[in-house]
Amino acid sequence: MFVTVRFAPSPTGFLHVGNARVALVNWLFARRSGGRFLLRLDDTDTERSRPEFAEAIRRDLRWLGLDWDAEERQSDRLERYRIATETLKAQGRLYPCYETPQELEFRRKRQLARHQPPVYDRAALGLTEDQRRALEAEGRRPHWRFRLDDADIAWTDLVRGPVHFQGGHLSDPVVIREDGTFLYMLPSVVDDVDMRVSHVIRGEDHVANTAVQVQMFEALGTPPPTFAHLPLMTDIGGEGLSKRLGSLSLADLREQGVEALALASYLAHLGTSDAIEPQTTHEALIAGFELSHCGRASPKFDAEQLWRLNEKLLHALPFTTVAPRLAALGLAPAEEVFWEAVRPNLRRLADAAPWHGVCYGEATFAVLDQAPLKEAIALLPPEPWSQETWKAWTQAVSAATGRKGKALFLPLRQALTGQDHGPELKALLPVIGRDRALARLTASGG
Ligand code: GLU
Repeated sequence: MFVTVRFAPSPTGFLHVGNARVALVNWLFARRSGGRFLLRLDDTDTERSRPEFAEAIRRDLRWLGLDWDAEERQSDRLERYRIATETLKAQGRLYPCYETPQELEFRRKRQLARHQPPVYDRAALGLTEDQRRALEAEGRRPHWRFRLDDADIAWTDLVRGPVHFQGGHLSDPVVIREDGTFLYMLPSVVDDVDMRVSHVIRGEDHVANTAVQVQMFEALGTPPPTFAHLPLMTDIGGEGLSKRLGSLSLADLREQGVEALALASYLAHLGTSDAIEPQTTHEALIAGFELSHCGRASPKFDAEQLWRLNEKLLHALPFTTVAPRLAALGLAPAEEVFWEAVRPNLRRLADAAPWHGVCYGEATFAVLDQAPLKEAIALLPPEPWSQETWKAWTQAVSAATGRKGKALFLPLRQALTGQDHGPELKALLPVIGRDRALARLTASGG
């Protein structure tokens, strides 16, 4: 079967890690199977949908490294939805209702008080033509509901396994509002039919919608696609992410210095039995992805784990990948020896900037214990320098001063870098070079 999947955000806000996971899983599934990945903007809610959010969604997806084969906007497809509603009306599957929200709320409360499920009672189905006309003469305009069959609804979910619903236990959903605008449920099905979507992969908050939509597909004469419902992520304490979503937007994580590939590596394997390892290319990510490994338990989003992955990824990134980004940060020259020296110490790429200053800047630094610096200067070897230089030099200084360990290394580190900690000096020293090293040792009191 040719695979076509879609990611269908509403452009009413920014993408957060939960949406990003759904987008990524769809994309990986498509790319793994040589299929199509569509971006569908669910923008029928004209009040809340905004072009800025649509643009932010595109930007976030691109940043994450996802490309899409086509973009569709529901607002361009209203005529298709209208035609589908005509088909369903002709079959008697859509019926007009006139209850106000207050009336519906009253009935719902009464049902709950009687321990009945809050299912729409279909009162409007019993209206005669005259009664409808009378209601419309009062100025009421209908909203339209889809009449569900009281049948067994079943599908084999790629994540949840066999799923069953009884049509009679579900409420007939409203598909067209009083003002003639469409709610999510039917347009999504019409799109999935028209765009030949083979697999609908989305959050488990849509499971009950799927039960309804299965009947809509059937009413429109198309077999439903295959479904996969991913469990929703929680925070580390098991609470829903919704309260903290602001801080977990992709834009914020990017701003904080999270690498797109670290986030993608994390989200691709979160909630699976696979080890979560940073992948340095999207190709590797695709090759390692299996939808069938996604489990049913809610995965926990652990920001600290993501940051550890970020560090591991940076430590593994080859210079060729990172060189243009160092240049974009204004770090010139961007040399391979510099990258090799500093990457083990980075949590985020921007942390390379201060070390760049240490390697190539003209600053000099204060040193608390200046005693070994004179000998250190006297014994500073001539260039060329390599990774071996540090050891040979410090052994000589140790022999001359009798100092070892911290008493030897800390003053040298302070003089050369202005810090007590940092990248290994055997790697930094050749990048700093003899002229700067000599100037710093001298200025520090040597
Ligand atoms: N716009 C819907 C949402 O964001 C799409 C759900 C679907 O994938 O069908 O939840």
